[in-house]
Amino acid sequence: MIKINEIFFSIQGESSYVGYPTVFVRTSGCHLRCTYCDTTYAYHQGSNMELDDVVKNIKQHATKYVCLTGGEPLLQKETLPLMSQLCDDGYIVSLETSGDIDCKEVDRRVKKIIDVKTPDSGEPNKFATANLEFANKETEFKFVICSEKDFEWAENFAQKNNLFEKSNVLYSPSFSVIDENWLAKKILSAGSQARLQLQLHKYIWSPTERGV
Ligand code: SF4
Repeated sequence: MIKINEIFFSIQGESSYVGYPTVFVRTSGCHLRCTYCDTTYAYHQGSNMELDDVVKNIKQHATKYVCLTGGEPLLQKETLPLMSQLCDDGYIVSLETSGDIDCKEVDRRVKKIIDVKTPDSGEPNKFATANLEFANKETEFKFVICSEKDFEWAENFAQKNNLFEKSNVLYSPSFSVIDENWLAKKILSAGSQARLQLQLHKYIWSPTERGV
């Protein structure tokens, strides 16, 4: 059994899969409390589902892209066999995780989008350094930038750990806190190799919409 907050069909708004029709599987529960969290409803709400029923639900939708998100999916061990089964079934699977939990048990075929919590996220120093071992061209390390201090911190973290060379580094402006134009200019003027990432879903849907 796995506690699921929601399963819905929408457009991927983040990562290198941005724009693809995607089934989102949002698990319930998160141990962090980021200042910018836009899924607080997933902290507790949800229903227990059998893995087979989750897969059946996914298969109703016309796409081969599935994204496990939360909450924090890795708080529930059942997400591991779910991701492996989806890969076996030919799905392209991505995982959005807080970065605070070691990803070593995640199926190697899964694209990992690993958050690195900045000082102004409200959850500083919440990063499992073991996750740096996954730094390869397939891995995406995502920093939500909440301030200039966060930008400088992210640059320092990424450079110190060679993330620009080994992986994809995404800088996402904290929505309605940081101006995307400011962040774009900051990336250019600092000579950063980060990719600017806007949350596409927040531009195409109304606040009450998720997709279809
Ligand atoms: S890790 Fe994600 S789900 Fe958890 S509090 Fe932070 S933004 Fe929200």
